[in-house]
Amino acid sequence: MKNIYIVTGGSGFIGSNLVSKLIKDKNNYVINIDKLTYASNEDFVEYKSQSNYKFIKADIINDKKIKSILTKYKPNFIIHLAAESHVDRSIDNPKNFISTNILGTYSLLNESYNYWNSLKGSKKMNFRFIMVSTDEVYGSLKSGEKKFTESNVYSPNSPYAASKASADMLSRAWFKTYKFPIIITNTCNNYGPWQFPEKLIPLTLSKCIKKQIIPVFGKGNQIRDWIHVDDHISGLIYVLNKGKLGEKYNIGSNNEIKNINVVKEICDIFDEISQTKGKKSNKLIRFVKDRPGHDTRYAIDTSKISKLGWKAKVNWKKGLIDTIGWYLDNTEYLKRIKENTYSGKRLGVIKK
Ligand code: NAD
Repeated sequence: MKNIYIVTGGSGFIGSNLVSKLIKDKNNYVINIDKLTYASNEDFVEYKSQSNYKFIKADIINDKKIKSILTKYKPNFIIHLAAESHVDRSIDNPKNFISTNILGTYSLLNESYNYWNSLKGSKKMNFRFIMVSTDEVYGSLKSGEKKFTESNVYSPNSPYAASKASADMLSRAWFKTYKFPIIITNTCNNYGPWQFPEKLIPLTLSKCIKKQIIPVFGKGNQIRDWIHVDDHISGLIYVLNKGKLGEKYNIGSNNEIKNINVVKEICDIFDEISQTKGKKSNKLIRFVKDRPGHDTRYAIDTSKISKLGWKAKVNWKKGLIDTIGWYLDNTEYLKRIKENTYSGKRLGVIKK
């Protein structure tokens, strides 16, 4: 009997990496439900023709379509990644975030619950729904404050974070009220191949390649906690197999870095790999007007998942070099972004 997975948002950054990993095991059959927004990679991935992979273009808010997919494919597991995921876009246009992240998650939860209710025996008992969420739901930390644990009160600051917090709350309610077997995971900033080049690492690299201004919000002093996407995926699969129902797990790598230092590291690695002969990419860095409500620091405590027996493996420096190498081997991928579309008008303001 194959493990049948439904992955929502399987054409996005984390989804492409997750699907690629899951289908390597021929005991797995993966159905990817994705609406194919601007952030999706379906045109680029090489595994499209694999016999244990099925792509279905659909919006998770479409409950009739979701119901028919669940009835037809009878999954054992659902890993819910589909989301609008870029904070700057949520500031400029929150509506899509409310629609997909809240209403879409509601439709998916409700139809998945109805489907699960129709199951019997071990198929029902072993079914799992993984709600993939973010550390941004916890709000912002001051320097020296303790890292976020799973019991921190949610304090989302951006429309994106608020929409993900709402989705987590709905998921919790479906467990508490209906005993629907969900597990919620909260991860930090992921990096790796297939990330749409509006996000910090591929954006900085694309600017290095094009020798264009590298915009950095504020003074770049915001601290983010970075995890390689392979580690995040291994954590998700681990939690799916070993996690306790109704629980939340932080999936992190204990790797806090200031944004400006990430940008400088990318510049240095790019200069070294591409042998720019004395030309310093970090001269392209410019500080731009800060994002409204920009969180100062995120850091997640990973003790709970460590006690379950999992820990991240990828070393930051090696992971970053490999990631940069991947984008340099796939420069077509970086050309997908239109100039400055990712943060609207605000990015145009460069401080003297
Ligand atoms: P992404 O933006 O790269 O991909 C999202 C995917 O979801 C896209 O393929 C898109 O087409 C699809 N999608 C969007 N709306 C949809 C809808 N209504 N119906 C069906 N599909 C839809 O995002 P990502 O970076 O891969 O993130 C995946 C998940 O992980 C998200 O839930 C995000 O909140 C969470 N997360 C990401 C990070 C990170 O650093 N990337 C960190 C923490 C949490």
